[in-house]
Amino acid sequence: MPYLSKRKVGNPNKIEQKEAVSRHNNKWSKYYQNRQWKLLRDYYMQLHPICADCAIEGRSVPADECHHVRPFSEGATEEEKIQLLLDPDNLVALCRTCHMKRHGYLNHSK
Ligand SMILES: [Zn+2]
Ligand SMILES: [Zn+2]
Repeated sequence: MPYLSKRKVGNPNKIEQKEAVSRHNNKWSKYYQNRQWKLLRDYYMQLHPICADCAIEGRSVPADECHHVRPFSEGATEEEKIQLLLDPDNLVALCRTCHMKRHGYLNHSK
């Protein structure tokens, strides 16, 4: 099989992409480490223990995660980002599956 050895060439672009992703995550992780956010999230999840999207479909599924309806990354300034991050009206409690759907990670093509 002469093809196989030829294809085993290192791809430097791939490594660069990986680093970019982790840098991106670090950029937002400081917001998720925010003490007020953690408190708000815990509080919100206690008030809304059921997934909102599942509830609309008549299912009662425990919520796992807090989703920002308007991504706080859209805030033009640092203050605006924090405002979006800590705005209870901007939150919705979702189960993991619905959360991924909202972010488009799951495409249910049926
Ligand atoms: Zn759900
Ligand atoms: Zn989300």
